[in-house]
Amino acid sequence: MDFTVSEKMKTILGMINEFVDKELIPLEPEFLAKPARSLLPGIEEKRKMVKQMELWAPNHPKEYGGMGLDLIEYALVSEALGRSPLGHFVFGCQAPDAGNIEILHQFGTDEQKEKYLPPLVDGKIRSCFSMTEVELPGSNPVMMDTTAVKDGDDYVINGQKWYTSSADGAAFAIVMAVTNPEAGPYLQASMVIVPTDAPGFNLVRNIPVMGHAGEDYFSHAEILYQNCRVPQKNLLGAEGHGFIIAQERLGPGRIHHCMRWIGICNRAFDLMVARARDRIIAPGRKLATKQIIQSWIAECAADIQAARLMVLHAAWMIEKVGKKEARNEISLIKFVVANVMQKVIDRALQVHGGLGMTDDTVLAFFFRHERAARIYDGADEVHKISVAKRILKQYEGKKIK
Ligand SMILES: Cc1cc2nc3c(=O)[nH]c(=O)nc-3n(C[C@H](O)[C@H](O)[C@H](O)COP(=O)(O)OP(=O)(O)OC[C@H]3O[C@@H](n4cnc5c(N)ncnc54)[C@H](O)[C@@H]3O)c2cc1C
Repeated sequence: MDFTVSEKMKTILGMINEFVDKELIPLEPEFLAKPARSLLPGIEEKRKMVKQMELWAPNHPKEYGGMGLDLIEYALVSEALGRSPLGHFVFGCQAPDAGNIEILHQFGTDEQKEKYLPPLVDGKIRSCFSMTEVELPGSNPVMMDTTAVKDGDDYVINGQKWYTSSADGAAFAIVMAVTNPEAGPYLQASMVIVPTDAPGFNLVRNIPVMGHAGEDYFSHAEILYQNCRVPQKNLLGAEGHGFIIAQERLGPGRIHHCMRWIGICNRAFDLMVARARDRIIAPGRKLATKQIIQSWIAECAADIQAARLMVLHAAWMIEKVGKKEARNEISLIKFVVANVMQKVIDRALQVHGGLGMTDDTVLAFFFRHERAARIYDGADEVHKISVAKRILKQYEGKKIK
């Protein structure tokens, strides 16, 4: 296997790493202390700089103003950007817009593409993805109460969703709702584009997550769809194909997420090693002289490297044999990397002692917000069960000595 990074990618990664170090990490103290909306003008300035450097929207097609990188190239970019909580947003490749752009590109009508893709890729508008419901298990989303019922030329949507990330300030939501209740469980729901100013779209609140409600892009909303009316032409893809489209959204999306998490690991690791190197723990003795800390450093280095290679391998599998054949690899990285990240952030925080609990470093932010990685896009347990079932099936009838 060839692990060489092309000259083109070395240059791009060098530029991105420098930008993250010089332009984004210095913004973090303000980001951690002030309401997100007050920082948007400053963030917009940084986005303009990224566009001038021609590094905007690295994962999106060139025809819409992106860089058109392939999955492995973008995986490396996502790692570099993950080092700062502002990285993906400033470079125009943030979730959930990235996934929504992919499915609009793949399943949208010409009219939908023309209307939504250019401003979305350009960062002029934002979007959100509204599937999880308050009262029903997100882990088993075929249990869904939200309905979209035809009435004249419209759909009328009713339901209560939550964890619709970044709905605050978004221009539209892609909503999963039951349109075909008589069909089989995986063919009952559809995706419908709902502008956030449609009558009956009610943003109830930004949910406090570990004590922080956030705002604008950096928030997760509860939304009540109350006789919310949109034209039937807002259907995305075929009616009843909501889960089929959702599957399409998940494969490459997991690579993006996992490499962002590796970027977070790298940042937490850098902070941990630097603190251990500098912190005097007894006269003339640095924290890094303690064997237990050395052991943490070595373990974290090994865990990060193993996780990183697993993700790059999964990306390679998706490109070589396709998402379906790479199902196991995609499920494995989802829970392995989320857990490695949690461990690395926790160790880094521990090495910082009381300082780790403050917002004087970015570690507490990562600790609060990235815990969710073990829950969204499929909880650890769900991925483990599905991988184990497939493995057990492969062993059916085989004689093992
Ligand atoms: C920060 C954050 C952002 C999110 N963003 C979005 C978004 O933008 N759009 C959106 O629609 N949703 C979003 N979600 C929702 C997310 O997808 C759901 O929280 C997730 O699917 C789990 O669903 P649930 O919360 O209903 O938990 P449940 O389904 O109630 O599961 C609870 C727990 O039960 C266990 N469990 C579940 N099933 C099984 C099983 N089969 N076997 C063993 N154990 C099991 C797991 O430990 C799981 O964590 C977000 C969530 C978070 C925390």
